[in-house]
Amino acid sequence: MKNVVIFGAPGSGKGTQSENIIKKYGFKHFSTGDILRKQIADQTELGKTAKKFIDEGKLVTDELIINMMDAELDSVKDAAGVIFDGFPRTYAQAEALKTLLNKRGTDVSVMLNIQVDEEELIKRLLERGKTSGRSDDNLETIKKRLDTYNRDTTPVIDFYKKEGTCVDIKGVGSIEEIFVAISEAIDAAK
Ligand code: AMP
Repeated sequence: MKNVVIFGAPGSGKGTQSENIIKKYGFKHFSTGDILRKQIADQTELGKTAKKFIDEGKLVTDELIINMMDAELDSVKDAAGVIFDGFPRTYAQAEALKTLLNKRGTDVSVMLNIQVDEEELIKRLLERGKTSGRSDDNLETIKKRLDTYNRDTTPVIDFYKKEGTCVDIKGVGSIEEIFVAISEAIDAAK
């Protein structure tokens, strides 16, 4: 089983490329953002707590996310692979994911570090905001999310560099071109 972490700033194309990975490899998709948005739509306690953080462009607490992922991981037993999309987003979450996978006898196979410059990210997110209906796709929240990314999330890259599983992917160009690089990295992973 391959465990793939798809990593990048908001707007880097993680969601789109995750869909391509699912189509080609049949992996199971764990998007913490999608799981949280479902909890918000269902008006669960977890959803109500998460919405406050999301609407301010902040991260939901590590404890809440890690417990949620521990429960979600019990639903994967026989998958060909798993894609983690939007998780881990802090160094502590990266350490926790390793622990959660190790206790299930597995580990992260590859971390795809999708790189897109900030000007392009803002352009893409504003464009997405016109159709997404997401409460956090407006300029003010986008800027906060990018600050959060630069401060709290980029240390995750160091974690996977140390692990030896980080592969840099140029995230500008056609979706197809980017997917070729992603496929090569997945195929080469253990
Ligand atoms: P996304 O759809 O991945 O951009 O996530 C939308 C929002 O959900 C983020 O801006 C965070 O507020 C929250 N979120 C998603 N994943 C995580 C995570 N792993 N840790 C903390 N907060 C998260």
